[in-house]
Amino acid sequence: MPVESQPESSVEEQKVNLLGLSPSEMVAFFESVGEKSFRATQLIKWIHQNGVDDFDAMSNLSKPLREKLKRVAVIKAPSIIKQWDSEDGTRKFLFQVGNDSAAKEGSSKNAVEAVFIPEGDRGTLCVSSQVGCSLDCSFCATGKQGFNRDLSAAEIIGQVWAAAKSYGQLTPKAPRSVTNVVMMGMGEPLMNFDNVVAAMTLMMDDNAYGLSKRRVTLSTAGVVPALDRLGEVTDVSLAISLHAANDELRNQLVPINKKYPIAMLLDSAKRYIEGVPDNRRKITIEYTLIDHVNDRPHHAHQLADLLKDIPVKINLIPFNPFGLVDYKRVSNNALRRFQDILIDAGYIVTVRTTRGDDIDAACGQLAGEVNDRTRRSERYKKSQLSANLKNGESGKPEAIRIVPRT
Ligand code: SAH
Repeated sequence: MPVESQPESSVEEQKVNLLGLSPSEMVAFFESVGEKSFRATQLIKWIHQNGVDDFDAMSNLSKPLREKLKRVAVIKAPSIIKQWDSEDGTRKFLFQVGNDSAAKEGSSKNAVEAVFIPEGDRGTLCVSSQVGCSLDCSFCATGKQGFNRDLSAAEIIGQVWAAAKSYGQLTPKAPRSVTNVVMMGMGEPLMNFDNVVAAMTLMMDDNAYGLSKRRVTLSTAGVVPALDRLGEVTDVSLAISLHAANDELRNQLVPINKKYPIAMLLDSAKRYIEGVPDNRRKITIEYTLIDHVNDRPHHAHQLADLLKDIPVKINLIPFNPFGLVDYKRVSNNALRRFQDILIDAGYIVTVRTTRGDDIDAACGQLAGEVNDRTRRSERYKKSQLSANLKNGESGKPEAIRIVPRT
């Protein structure tokens, strides 16, 4: 079909989105269109350091080159559907990653979230890697919406681009800019390996965001073969979502544990950190504390024992309730007791303070919904209840899995 007769949208779709190209892919792109490879650096700087998405604004490119680029390429970040600002400075973004009308209706199939958390001179952006998630951890809101699709590299780095731009600055030295990125939003980053690695490469590239490898963190529930591969291509900081120190309990909280149990996961994590050329680095162990599920003193002792030969710091995350599950947040007493046991055993232990409470920006609550979450949960519970009753079941909603108290 001649180009002229194609609808404009399909011509646009065939263009390469330069936003998500890693430095080597950008070089390959320029070579493929018969241009010199140094153009790659110029483009990366324009896009990621200057926040420019309009070829005409790129003043060091000739007019013919700009016209050529317009014919074959676009620079397109996911658009911000909505933005919430918390009283504590946290800012949550809802990004459109699908077709317009569905996203405007708030369909979680077409939207992902990112959260910017300022803290002193640091600004941490929590970024999503997938629309939904297939791992279905029993305490995570994202898992409850199921898996829809992987985000492209442009959609992942586009969250950083758009968030930084929302503060008017893209360079790490600017106030209120993104100084750290954590892949802890929606999705399992290691299940979207290539796109996540390409986006992280841009985060660390000196011509793009220039973040050091210590300031880019990949968080995983434990996809062991992919973690083994990760060490071959990058050395970003690693966080492991552990949440339990024995397989029986972890199987219930993090079902992928049945495939890759704790010992296998920790071996892989250890190999990763040993491969990093910096012997001061530690793995962050994330442990979401749920009332009477995994917050008892014997759980803390078991955790201390499990991690004794691994360079770790432990981040305790009070569970954020979200309506679809009956779990409760850890009590303050249990949290303090748990932390003390680990500190006494010699660990560095931090507690993730809840930020952005007033805008539902907390971890595990990133479900890509525009609709009011409480009402959504109620609707969901009711629909599950009637579906189960129809099937002659007990009436307990299927998605609510209660982990026995141990
Ligand atoms: N799939 C990746 C990244 C997304 S989850 C992973 O599992 O690491 C990011 C972190 O938020 C994980 O440690 C996860 O366990 C935690 N989290 C998820 N739901 C939560 C909730 N409701 N309350 C507190 N933390 C939660």
